[in-house]
Amino acid sequence: MSPRIAQRFSGVERSATVALLETVQRLRRDGVEVLDLSGGEPDFTTPAPVVAEAVSALEGGDTHYTPSRGVPELLRAVADKLATENGVRVDPATGVIVTPSAKQALFTALMTVLDPGDEVIVPTPAWVSYPAMAGLLGARAVPAELSAADGFRLSRRVLEDRVTERTRALVVNTPANPTGHVLDRAEAEEIVAFAVRHDLVLVVDEIYEKILYDGRRHLSLASLPGAAERTLTVNGFSKAYAMTGWRLGYLAGPEPLISAALKVQEHTVSCAASFVQRGGVAALTRAAGDVAAMRAEYAARRELTVSALTALPGVTCAQPEGAFYAFADVRGTGLTSAGFAQRLLDEAAVTVAPGPAFGAGGEGYVRLSFAASREVLRGAVERLSRLAARWEVG
Ligand code: PMP
Ligand code: GLU
Repeated sequence: MSPRIAQRFSGVERSATVALLETVQRLRRDGVEVLDLSGGEPDFTTPAPVVAEAVSALEGGDTHYTPSRGVPELLRAVADKLATENGVRVDPATGVIVTPSAKQALFTALMTVLDPGDEVIVPTPAWVSYPAMAGLLGARAVPAELSAADGFRLSRRVLEDRVTERTRALVVNTPANPTGHVLDRAEAEEIVAFAVRHDLVLVVDEIYEKILYDGRRHLSLASLPGAAERTLTVNGFSKAYAMTGWRLGYLAGPEPLISAALKVQEHTVSCAASFVQRGGVAALTRAAGDVAAMRAEYAARRELTVSALTALPGVTCAQPEGAFYAFADVRGTGLTSAGFAQRLLDEAAVTVAPGPAFGAGGEGYVRLSFAASREVLRGAVERLSRLAARWEVG
């Protein structure tokens, strides 16, 4: 007899990106010299003021439960940041919850708005966990496939085609993983008009907000007229501050939604770790210089990665506008995404994420993360060029 597993797991796969991170860790333990471009994990160490603050919190005995929403200093720092950087006004006492990771914030946000059987529109290619989270909630993610020819821009037309009477929410990720697309104002206005017309909640994942190129500026959907009352803004510390292992993020929005979301937090995780939250305050208030330095380094790595990819036979790659992924079109090599990724692993010990992991529109692409050091990137590019000579037959 095998134990019964809840029905909602049917169709929910393991996280392809987390599985890749674990494959790399395993191969390294086995002594393989992997050059890893698969994982979305900054190679930088967490900024010193953040570490110092968390250590001093630990040493000072700050090791107990905090209010479920988060410590007041961090809630205030988040609300101040949203007001000054994003033009989004929330009450720190009622409009923010600090969560153990952006992932947890997203899951909480989706649980707050989706009943079993409901639908959420997810523009694809998209980060792997949005549809899986909907599935875990017994809801359904409806993909809205975007096209590379339009620069993966979201349009009202594509969205209107996906609405049914069960649609409750739309997920927006800007800057986007894996495409690198950054929302512009015209696109944002179309999205808000669409959400208002169909009375949908916007679940907006802004975790790559600080990683932008060519002078682009981040636009928070919640700052647009008519959007604040229906937008849950999600952000996290993993990417901007190289804090993946700390597990810290937040959810901000209108009081009725946040009050409901707080029940998820209270009944599941209680709160984010106390000393981690102290580190979060330091990140928001004392790490701007570190963030700028990391952004400059990502920009250099983007040049290195995209120019090397474009030089390969059969490969094309647009410049990502934000985030730290190159989403390369490998159709000209004659290989599938999975075939390309497998050959890279088997013949060059280079890991990349195959495009189909990111849903509809991903076949023919692979995602290469340039959150790896320049040394790793150069090594990977060199191995790739050697391999390319062999797939030219395409
Ligand atoms: N959103 C996107 C688009 C991501 O790529 C990630 C990376 N894991 C997350 C959310 C979650 O980040 P974390 O849980 O580490 O805060
Ligand atoms: N978000 C990163 C990625 O897309 C890290 C893994 C994960 O949490 O999904 O690779």
